[in-house]
Amino acid sequence: MTSWNPFPWRAWAIAWALVCHAVLAAPRAARLPNIVVVFCDDLGWGDLGCQGAQGIRTPHLDRMAREGTRFTRFYVAQAVCSASRTALLTGCYPNRVGIHGALGPKQPIGLHPDETTLAEVLKGRGYATAIVGKWHLGRPAPLLPTRQGFDEYLGLPYSNDMWPSHPTAPRNTYPPLPLMDGERVIEEMPDQSRLTRRYTDRAVDFIRRNASRPFFLYLAHSMPHVPLFAGKDFKGRSGRGTFGDVIEEIDASVGAVLGELRRQGIDQETLVVFTSDNGPWLSYGNHAGSAGPFREGKGTSFEGGIRVPCIVRWPGRIPAGRVTDDPWMTIDVLPTVAGLVGAPLHGRKIDGRDVWPLIEGRAGASNPHPAYFIYYNVGELQAVIAGRWKLFLPHRSQTLGGRSGGTNGVPASYRPMRVGLELYDLGSDPGESRDVSGANPGVVREMLRHAEAARGDLGDALTGRVGVGTRPVGRAD
Ligand code: MG
Repeated sequence: MTSWNPFPWRAWAIAWALVCHAVLAAPRAARLPNIVVVFCDDLGWGDLGCQGAQGIRTPHLDRMAREGTRFTRFYVAQAVCSASRTALLTGCYPNRVGIHGALGPKQPIGLHPDETTLAEVLKGRGYATAIVGKWHLGRPAPLLPTRQGFDEYLGLPYSNDMWPSHPTAPRNTYPPLPLMDGERVIEEMPDQSRLTRRYTDRAVDFIRRNASRPFFLYLAHSMPHVPLFAGKDFKGRSGRGTFGDVIEEIDASVGAVLGELRRQGIDQETLVVFTSDNGPWLSYGNHAGSAGPFREGKGTSFEGGIRVPCIVRWPGRIPAGRVTDDPWMTIDVLPTVAGLVGAPLHGRKIDGRDVWPLIEGRAGASNPHPAYFIYYNVGELQAVIAGRWKLFLPHRSQTLGGRSGGTNGVPASYRPMRVGLELYDLGSDPGESRDVSGANPGVVREMLRHAEAARGDLGDALTGRVGVGTRPVGRAD
C-alpha cells in the first residue's frame, strides 16, 4: 500500500483558511446610512460663527464643521422658498417641474405627486421618513408631504409670515396659520416662540424611535424666516438682537440632534447636511441675516441670494475640519444620496448629479456639471454659473441700494434694479463688483451657449421660450 498522502488534507486546510479569511475580511453588509438634512429658512452665508457672524454664537455648528466639511460655495437653485425646496427634494431645477417662487396658502398647486422626492427614493430602500418643519410645496391634502414619501409630518405647510399678522399684506390675504401633524391641523396660530423647540423635540423623538433602522429626517426649520421668535431660554441671549437669539436656538437644535445620534451610537452611520433655502431677506433689516462678503440677498440671483451655508458631517466617511470652495448645488443632493444608498434613479429626467467624490474629498474629484442655471421670477433664466465664471442675463432685480432695511419686523421696500449682460469672475471677485464681460468675449459666448441649451430644455420667461423638458405642476382643483 502506498502511504497516506497528506496532500488533499493540506489543500483542504488551505482552502478552509482562505474561506475563513474571506468571511472575516469582507465588509459586513454595511448598514444603509441615515440621512439627516437640516434646512433653515432665509439663513445667510454670514450667520454662523464659523463663517464670521458677529454677536451670534453657534458652538454646535462650529463643532459640526470641525467634525465635518464646510462647503463655502454651495448653491440653492433659486433664492426663494418653494422653488428652492423643490430643487432639494426632487433633484430638479424648479422650472422643470413647474414650481416658481413661493406658493401662497390658497393656491391649488404644488409639487406634482408623480415627481419622485428624496423621501420616496429612500422609502424605496426601506427607510423610515419624516419631515419636521416647513413644507411649502403645496397646501391641499393631495399635495402634502404625506403623499410624497414622508411617513410623518409635524410642521407648517408654508411660510410662518403667511398669517393674518403679516406686516404689509392686506387683511384677509392669509388664513390663520395651521400647525399640522400628518394631514391634520392640530393648532391654528401656534405660539411661534415654541416652534423651534417643538420641531427639535419631534426630530429627536423620531431619531430615538428609528435608531435601529435606516431613517431619513428632513428638519426644515421655519426660522429665521420672519416673523422671528426665539424660545424663552434664548430671548436676549445673543449680541445681535432677536435675529441672533433665533440663530442661537437653531444652533442648540443642531446640538440636540447630533447629541441624540451620539447617544444612540449611530454617529458613524449618519450623514448630516446643514444648509439654508436661500440667503437673507435684507429688506427686514435688523430682522434679517447677513450674506457675509456676498452681494445682495434673498430674491436675487446674486451670490447673497443663492450661496448659503453648508456643513456636511459623517464621521469616518467625510473629512473632518475640511473647508472647500468646490461648488455644488441642492439639485445634487438627491442623486448623491441615491448613489450612496444604492437606489436606482430611473424614469424621469432630473438635473442634479452624483457629487459624492467631491463631498468625500476624493483626490482629483471635480464637479460634473458643465454649468448651473439660476432661475427666478416665474421662470426667468437670470444667471449661468460655470466654474469660476458667472454670467448674468439682462433682467430686472431688486436692491436696497445701500439702505439698511426695515426694523423690528417691518420691511423696507426694495428699489428696482436693472442687471445687464454682466460677467463676474467669482474666483477673484466673489463679491460681484467688477463686470469683466468686455475683456472676456470668448467666455461670454461660451456661457451664452450654455444658457441657450438651458432655454431649450427648461424654458425661459425672459425670452418667452417654452422648455421641451418641462413637466406640469401638481394641481388639486
Ligand atoms: Mg426662504
